[in-house]
Amino acid sequence: VVVVEGVRRSFGALVPVLQDVSFRLEPGELVLLRGPSGAGKSTVLNLVAGLDRPDGGEVLVDGVRVAGLGHPARFRREVVGFVFQLHHLLAELTAEENVEVPLIPAHLRRSQRRARARAALAEVGLGDRATHRPVELSGGERQLTAVARAIVGRPRLLLADEPTGSLDAIAGERVLGLIGRLSRDQGMTVLLVSHDPRAAGRVDRVLELRDGRIVAPEPR
Ligand code: ATP
Ligand code: MG
Repeated sequence: VVVVEGVRRSFGALVPVLQDVSFRLEPGELVLLRGPSGAGKSTVLNLVAGLDRPDGGEVLVDGVRVAGLGHPARFRREVVGFVFQLHHLLAELTAEENVEVPLIPAHLRRSQRRARARAALAEVGLGDRATHRPVELSGGERQLTAVARAIVGRPRLLLADEPTGSLDAIAGERVLGLIGRLSRDQGMTVLLVSHDPRAAGRVDRVLELRDGRIVAPEPR
């Protein structure tokens, strides 16, 4: 369970980006976080992932205060997976090497890491692209590789920031379909940020971020 309670965050500007953000995610829920550009959606994901600290309020994941974690690496590997707005794959590494990265601190043998990376790539439909470098992959394949990297540690919670942002309709469908299956079939809790109009119809619930608060979603 993710509990975000009264969270504030500002970056020096007069008006805080997040004024008072509260919401809850139940296990297995697939929730869309929507709102205008600059509303603070990526900021919210960073706070839930423990990549940033709130100025006020609390973020709890399964009862643990994320901002106070002594050993965040394990939390980031095993509890949350993050698909960044820009996929952030390492150009010199192959797809499978990129997917292995979160497992490096996990004290696994190299062969075990490789096997888990290949399984995650197969799961996103890229079993036959494992040894390609990012330049040799299409935009959609890069996003799918980023999803594979986010799920390789079997996290309970997946945070996905605009995973279909730069993709055409078919590639976007593949990524959204995959995220839907992770939630439905594996019970992963997913917080998805997307402007994609197709996303709203495929989620359990929509959170609308506006003027630093979660407001009732506008009907579309
Ligand atoms: P988009 O839809 O364009 O991705 P967003 O809703 O994800 O927008 P954020 O990236 O969360 O928006 O940014 C919200 C605001 O906070 C922006 O005005 C941004 O400039 C500011 N901001 C975010 N991170 C930082 C930072 N590390 N330092 C300074 N300002 C920041
Ligand atoms: Mg953003």
